[in-house]
Amino acid sequence: LAQVLEHEQDLPSQTPDGHAMPLMVNTGLAVDAVASLKTRISGVGLYRTEVPFMITERFPGEQEQTRLYRDQLESFAPLPVVMRTLDIGGDKDLPYFPIDEANPFLGWRGIRVTLDHPEVLMVQLRAMLRASLGLGNLQILLPMVTNVDEVDDTLKLIERAQAELAEEGVTVARPKIGVMLEVPATLYQLEPLAARVDFFSVGSNDLTQYLLAVDRNNPRVAGLYDACHPAVLVALARLADEAAALGVPISVCGELAGDPAGALLLMGMGFDALSMNAPSLPRVRAAIRRVSQTSAQSLVSEILSLATPREVRQHLEKRLGEWQ
Ligand code: PEP
Ligand code: MG
Repeated sequence: LAQVLEHEQDLPSQTPDGHAMPLMVNTGLAVDAVASLKTRISGVGLYRTEVPFMITERFPGEQEQTRLYRDQLESFAPLPVVMRTLDIGGDKDLPYFPIDEANPFLGWRGIRVTLDHPEVLMVQLRAMLRASLGLGNLQILLPMVTNVDEVDDTLKLIERAQAELAEEGVTVARPKIGVMLEVPATLYQLEPLAARVDFFSVGSNDLTQYLLAVDRNNPRVAGLYDACHPAVLVALARLADEAAALGVPISVCGELAGDPAGALLLMGMGFDALSMNAPSLPRVRAAIRRVSQTSAQSLVSEILSLATPREVRQHLEKRLGEWQ
């Protein structure tokens, strides 16, 4: 099977009825290992910038960050690279910036931290913009957004970084800017968000944990953590519909996108792109090449009438078995 899949990897990510489903890759470290995928993907859908920060002994400076980001952007140019601003807190701690809280996943995380430390965010934004000089494939993604104000505040910082660089003789275009939809509140704020940003990216890992009130890393409640919970799937389907109505591109960069059954569901719902870890690409591509968009759409309507995660899983297995 592995050989069959490998053989397909240079073929388009397209369904038998001609629906193209762009696949993107999630990156953190080791850009070299994934750069070889360039011809097979539509870009980097999520570069987790906190990953390189986790192996340094202090916050990397502007030059060091510029080098890191330039490496990513150059490796994939002209394909887009979606760089997420530092998403620490929750389960991701930096040794030199410890955060000790009783409820870390409901606490100081992502954009909340970096807006409280604009000096950290400004270095990162300046480095991202500087790295994009002459390439034009940078996109910036904001994690853990809860309030539209947080977007406005970040946009101001991005403008300031751009203006500072221009004064220093580095003129870069404004990158596309997107918001992660992972805090349930954002599901009800799509309109004002759409007025401010260029794209949406669903963090299905956090969205699942917050919709279900289940810590994604707690083994005691692991049985309850399920992106195939009907509530999560209904939320995802609505997001795809509403983003389309607002004319804002929407993708998914959580684990669900890297699961073949999940990817088919997301395709059927109408998501514009799926971003996943590199090892998931072959199986997802193979699934897409075997299942028509019409079948994926029917699958979604069948699934959305089910009441329990178990029924969803069983139904998915049944259909996938028929399609293999
Ligand atoms: C997510 O929450 O789905 C996501 C992609 O981000 P992370 O897993 O880094 O929180
Ligand atoms: Mg997340």
